[in-house]
Amino acid sequence: MAEGPDGDELQRIVDGIHAELAPRFGEGRVADYIPQLARIDPRRFGLAVVTLDGAVHAAGDADVAFSIQSISKVFLLTMALGRYGEAIWRRVGREPSGSAFNSIVQLEQEHGIPRNPFVNAGAIAVTDMVLAGHTPREAIGEILRFVRFLADDDAIVIDRHVARSETATGDRNYALAHFMRGFGRLEHRVDLVLGVYFHQCALAMSCRQLARAGLFLAAGGRNPLTGHSVVRAARARRINALMLMCGHYDGSGEFAYRVGLPGKSGVGGGILAVAPGKASIAVWSPGLDANGNSHLGRIALEALAKRMGWSIFGA
Ligand code: GLN
Repeated sequence: MAEGPDGDELQRIVDGIHAELAPRFGEGRVADYIPQLARIDPRRFGLAVVTLDGAVHAAGDADVAFSIQSISKVFLLTMALGRYGEAIWRRVGREPSGSAFNSIVQLEQEHGIPRNPFVNAGAIAVTDMVLAGHTPREAIGEILRFVRFLADDDAIVIDRHVARSETATGDRNYALAHFMRGFGRLEHRVDLVLGVYFHQCALAMSCRQLARAGLFLAAGGRNPLTGHSVVRAARARRINALMLMCGHYDGSGEFAYRVGLPGKSGVGGGILAVAPGKASIAVWSPGLDANGNSHLGRIALEALAKRMGWSIFGA
């Protein structure tokens, strides 16, 4: 790297954040509305930073697979944009919601069109699009293949226990999907759409795999490790814009204020963050804050962005 801290220094910073946060491991509240997630040890903590040259700087449980949950919505959106292009914006908006990830309140006023692709209702609408012309099994297979391609790792799997656990308890998502279908906004049956949605949320990935999968967003749409072009630079920029504005639901403003990077959280306690032109970062700490975003994950990213001078708003 020509400017800024070199690899050794980045590793020291990553190790330092891990060590500083160690006494706090377990803070926050693990998601328990999906029973299978409630079983996770809240003291887990992983951090992986992949720079554009492919170097990985990791600490803690960076190689332990966890449930990526809503982080998958970034990959789903990327896939849907590849297939349908700008037409997807007829089905879902691009505005922050200022409400919880599983909120139903705006859907009625806005005639069943979700605010953005990262709230649950929005991801369900995108899933409905991805399901077109496929059986649910095929659609799930396609999503899994796409994520394996992004991470360049065929070992990535979907945790069927988590998918089953959420299928059994996902009443709020059924409510959202039925409500949208009542407005004529879903083409497929609710059980089929949610079957696909729950499975992609149940993707199990480590911080290292996740950071690699997100690298194309930091590198203008191209995975510098494999040389594969995933999306055009303009599309990567726009996905990053959506992540910044909507990736943390009603905590998106706070995340932008404190971290200053596009990011997407999941209730499994993971966050994928993008430092454009610099690195892709994944952090995992299962304890959540009141908005359902990883509590220590955000604190770790805040420290990393600050020490590296990576905020998109300047050092
Ligand atoms: N599968 C979860 C749900 O639908 C995803 C939510 C999240 O990670 N914020 O409730």
